[in-house]
Amino acid sequence: MKRLSVLGSTGSIGTQTLEIVRENSDELMVYALAANSQVDLMEKQIREFKPVYACMCNEEAAGKLQVAVADTDTKIVSGMDGLIAISELDEIDIVVTAIVGMIGIRPTIAAINAGKDIALANKETLVTAGHIIMPLAKEKGVKILPVDSEHSAIFQSLQGQAGSDRIDQILLTASGGPFRGKKREELADMTVEDALKHPNWSMGRKITIDSSTLCNKGLEVIEAKWLFDVSLDQVHVLLQPQSIIHSGVQFIDGAVVAQLGVPDMKLPIQYALFYPDRKPMYNNRIDFAKLAQITFEEPDEETFKGLALAKQSSRIGGSMPTVFNAANERAVALFLDKKIKFLQIYDLIEACMDAHKAIDNPTVEEILASEQECYEYIDSMLK
Ligand code: NAD
Ligand code: MG
Repeated sequence: MKRLSVLGSTGSIGTQTLEIVRENSDELMVYALAANSQVDLMEKQIREFKPVYACMCNEEAAGKLQVAVADTDTKIVSGMDGLIAISELDEIDIVVTAIVGMIGIRPTIAAINAGKDIALANKETLVTAGHIIMPLAKEKGVKILPVDSEHSAIFQSLQGQAGSDRIDQILLTASGGPFRGKKREELADMTVEDALKHPNWSMGRKITIDSSTLCNKGLEVIEAKWLFDVSLDQVHVLLQPQSIIHSGVQFIDGAVVAQLGVPDMKLPIQYALFYPDRKPMYNNRIDFAKLAQITFEEPDEETFKGLALAKQSSRIGGSMPTVFNAANERAVALFLDKKIKFLQIYDLIEACMDAHKAIDNPTVEEILASEQECYEYIDSMLK
């Protein structure tokens, strides 16, 4: 029996993780759950999965949950302390980090320090603290198992292969999002509703907006650099609008190994939970004859600046990817609230990166301080 702590259990990745637990209840068990504020869904999850602990980050929500599940045996904890506590419990084997945003850094570090394997969906953590997370995981002998579909595909393609010095390049595929092919003038008036219509994937709101700006692909380039120990220039982004090739690796002899499948996050989640084993999944087969073709394009980085800005932040390094990520997080929240227009997402990120002097090799405290500074800078600009 593998015991899981699922951080972000009420979200898109979190609920799909619980579906896999439900389908494999003889092998997987939920020991702890965490979310921010969705009390009703958390209550349902507690009644179904009977975790020993549940954490609500939001204190008010934690209070409500406490009352709602008073008749159960689940212990309720709250805040960052609660999140950290359920990431380092002796009884758990693996922590699924399906929280959105940099809030995932501290619990992930706590889990690694406690020797827990990580099924990592929370890419913001690697983007901002990859230089801390990866060496620490190595030191503690902990596996970082990618859940992001592209990184899972790369990880699957690397099984049985020699070390990272045999990689020529990583082929990181992208659908191009709902605005693929559009020019800058057309993007100016795109609404939240337009941006939330992803052609292939159903995901949380933040990452769906990030797909439309290519900021998600930018974050994924940095995520790949850390996970697979390659240089930024070895990560080649390729648009593959049907989202069938989930990514691959080109080796030094020219051979390309890739993972293909229908676009469904449950496969990468399940693969991470059972790695290195594979378990059956049904109703997810590609019908190649019906698909007929898989097409490719180079990304338009001049129009979709998210990718170029992310790479620029990673080249500068240090705390700059934190600023790219924090500025994007805040800009996306403002766009979702209809306070700024689509292209202003890029303007805000650029302004924040211009204003920031990168700190080399930042500590967690410095990363979080850079995030805070970036938010304050955006607030001052909005005034
Ligand atoms: P989501 O918005 O659907 O869910 C986010 C979850 O995080 C929710 O359970 C929410 O309660 C929780 N959360 C948010 N703030 C919190 C806080 N302060 N404390 C505790 N919990 C908090 O997001 P998602 O789409 O599931 O994405 C989660 C992560 O996975 C992101 O980093 C995203 O980039 C990554 N990811 C998602 C997908 C996908 O298909 N959805 C694919 C690849 C990677
Ligand atoms: Mg992805």
